[in-house]
Amino acid sequence: MGQAINLTAQSANEGPTARKSGAMPAAGADGALRDQLHRPLRDMRISVTDRCNFRCVYCMPKEVFGRDFQFRERSELLTFEEIERVARAGISLGVRKLRLTGGEPLLRRGIEELVARLAALRTPEGESLDIALTTNGSALPVKAEALAKAGLGRITISLDSLQEERFQAINDVRFPVSRVLEAIDAAAAAGLGPVKINTVLKRGVNDDEILDLAGHFRGTGHTLRFIEYMDVGSSNGWVLDEVVPSAEVVERISAVYPLEPLPPAHPGEVAQRWRYVDGAGEIGAISSVTNPFCGACTRARISAEGRLFTCLFATEGTDLRELLRGGASDAELQGALAGTWRARKDRYSEKRAELTAHPGDPAGAGRRIEMSYIGG
Ligand code: SAM
Ligand code: SF4
Ligand code: SF4
Repeated sequence: MGQAINLTAQSANEGPTARKSGAMPAAGADGALRDQLHRPLRDMRISVTDRCNFRCVYCMPKEVFGRDFQFRERSELLTFEEIERVARAGISLGVRKLRLTGGEPLLRRGIEELVARLAALRTPEGESLDIALTTNGSALPVKAEALAKAGLGRITISLDSLQEERFQAINDVRFPVSRVLEAIDAAAAAGLGPVKINTVLKRGVNDDEILDLAGHFRGTGHTLRFIEYMDVGSSNGWVLDEVVPSAEVVERISAVYPLEPLPPAHPGEVAQRWRYVDGAGEIGAISSVTNPFCGACTRARISAEGRLFTCLFATEGTDLRELLRGGASDAELQGALAGTWRARKDRYSEKRAELTAHPGDPAGAGRRIEMSYIGG
């Protein structure tokens, strides 16, 4: 099924993270907070809700997230004030980019108020932060202008297929693809463009659309990013054979629309960038499975109920809500964040690559680590 996958433990930007393991580094030469593998804290990804109006089959399958599924109560979610305090603590420790996600972040009532609060924050040098949001786009036609006005800097919209029947089968709530395309236009019209469009590829499901998607977004100014399907959570039944390697994606596009590599836009960029030789724009490839980038992973994740996770595949998080609601001072909150980050040595995707170095070997696949889903 499909072509052989070349799983390597080499990071996109640096050598295997394990090589850098050693004594506990408190801070780098620049004074920045560093984890056990010398990675600074730069990005914070904040989930604002665990709810979603889609049931994408690879993310929230209906069999698991059905009518009886118990989502968090409103009172369990961090309030906007609490989110702002966590963001401030992160900024004092080096965070320069905030991304709101979920679940579906636009389902959180008053999301534009949260964006405005975060957009008003400043770094110790007095600069504003990069505020981004990832959405399925369904509410964008009504929300795009308010989000732009509130100070949202950038937006990523997920879109896995251009084919009506297929898109509706993937989102599993019969949401029409035309409305996501309208959402992309609405975001651009509101000044949130160029938009990033995230496409998760799954072998046998939508890998026959790689060229159609590339052709559709070439020349629009928007950047299409192909994401390798990951083994997040325990409900999507992930198997390695379903991963479409980025190398194959780039090869297939380049055969029709020649591509050339671009350097990373910034240190720690997770997408490998390629530009069309004819000047029709660029695409991105996020190779979390075939070319993991743990060595450059500078991202902390805050779940909707206020747990701090240091890896997408982590099973344990630090309970910040308990601190926030227990009267902790800003210094105590910073201490909890810094302590968790300093202890961090996650490199799950590199380990997965090592464990599954023989994709045809069922023993290798069997040793894959199963991890819980924490918000994308
Ligand atoms: N609901 C929003 C959306 O879909 O854009 C934000 C949250 S969603 C969890 C964030 C991103 O994670 C989406 O682009 C989605 O396609 C991606 N995603 C979810 N499950 C995935 C998986 N197993 N492998 C790769 N990407 C996945
Ligand atoms: Fe919802 Fe996003 Fe997951 Fe789809 S990928 S089910 S839109 S959270
Ligand atoms: Fe970061 Fe964990 Fe993903 Fe590696 S597996 S890139 S450490 S989130």
